[in-house]
Amino acid sequence: MPRPLLPIADARDLVLSACRPLGTESVPIAAARDRVLAADLQASGDVPPFPCSAMDGYAVMPGPAGRTLTVVAESRAGLPATHTLTDQEAIRISTGGAIPTGATAVIPQENVDAHDGTIVTRSPVDPGAHVRGRGEDMRTGATVLTAGTVLEAAELGAAVAAGVAELTVALRPKVQVLSTGDELKAPGEPLGPGEIHNSNGPMLVALAENQGAVCPPPDRLPDDPAATEQGLAAALQTADVIIVSGGVSVGPHDHVKPALARLGVKEIFWRVALQPGKPTWFGRRDDTLVFGLPGNPVSAAVTFALFVVPALTKLQGKTPQRPLYDQASLATAVPRNAEREQAMRVRLERHNGRITAIPNGPQGSHIVTSLLGADALALIPAGTGELEAGTLVALEPLAR
Ligand code: AMP
Ligand code: MG
Repeated sequence: MPRPLLPIADARDLVLSACRPLGTESVPIAAARDRVLAADLQASGDVPPFPCSAMDGYAVMPGPAGRTLTVVAESRAGLPATHTLTDQEAIRISTGGAIPTGATAVIPQENVDAHDGTIVTRSPVDPGAHVRGRGEDMRTGATVLTAGTVLEAAELGAAVAAGVAELTVALRPKVQVLSTGDELKAPGEPLGPGEIHNSNGPMLVALAENQGAVCPPPDRLPDDPAATEQGLAAALQTADVIIVSGGVSVGPHDHVKPALARLGVKEIFWRVALQPGKPTWFGRRDDTLVFGLPGNPVSAAVTFALFVVPALTKLQGKTPQRPLYDQASLATAVPRNAEREQAMRVRLERHNGRITAIPNGPQGSHIVTSLLGADALALIPAGTGELEAGTLVALEPLAR
């Protein structure tokens, strides 16, 4: 009697409870891009650090229109004026220039008539006009970024403004990708009878690297018990995570599970109520996690998105990404699978204010082109008959 298939959510919970976050390291800003911040980051000073001008114009005291003021100095960005301003005076100022002592406002240059070292104000000037206050953006000690944040462009800019040069980030998980199959040929290699190209190797490396992993070159393992064991044993020496594709099904040439068992990798689950992706296997030896993903490229990509992404997220202490849309209305009726939830590749479009999920072409697990241009996975619950067009379905992010 085969074991019942594991629901997707239960499988994901088992993955998450097997993950222990990796350690941290300190890296300079220039090397921190796309890394995960491991400790909250506080501003080391006020930003802006001093009151400064929001416009090119003149630093003045507040007052009515029609004043004639003598231009006595200049405050440029990076070169403050040293003169203390009186009410008869103006100081030329650039955007970002420090507001000189005595001035409390800026009049933009387009609001004055300037000639021979004097200006005539053409508009009234309110207190504080066009002045950026000290600390308006960040206050000393304020938390600017929280642990778990992925450091993209805006985060790097904010970290630098906060006065930081080195960031504490999570270590990147070392992920070894292995593809099993006697039929697999390297990209571009001519194909003999019955052979296909190894799509999964480069695809899984790209997926893992996009999740922050470091991947040594992917390896191919033949469908042979000893060679499979040898390849997995080598990967277990160095990897935090092993992703092995193919060979986890029930065929006579599926050698991955017995090899892992011989190597002491403990099975946590095998077979998920998921289409595509039923043979997905997951286990661990100490802190090394092993994912056995099905060989079909679409199954491998889908199971990567559903199970490997959460693991790489947790290992790096990353705050899980909030999807742009988590529900959509089915554009067409979809046949259901009696015992498995389907992860359908869909494009998302907005129709009459509703997000609609359109199946992205034929859904066979060997149709690698169904991944191209897909925006998300739509989860079709198991059941009989069809799920009607217009039904709201849950969306899962499709990893890229
Ligand atoms: P398996 O899971 O080993 O039974 O493989 C299932 C299907 O996926 C078979 O048609 C394999 O030829 C195919 N397949 C396995 N590995 C790969 C791969 N790395 N790239 C492309 N197709 C693969
Ligand atoms: Mg195979």
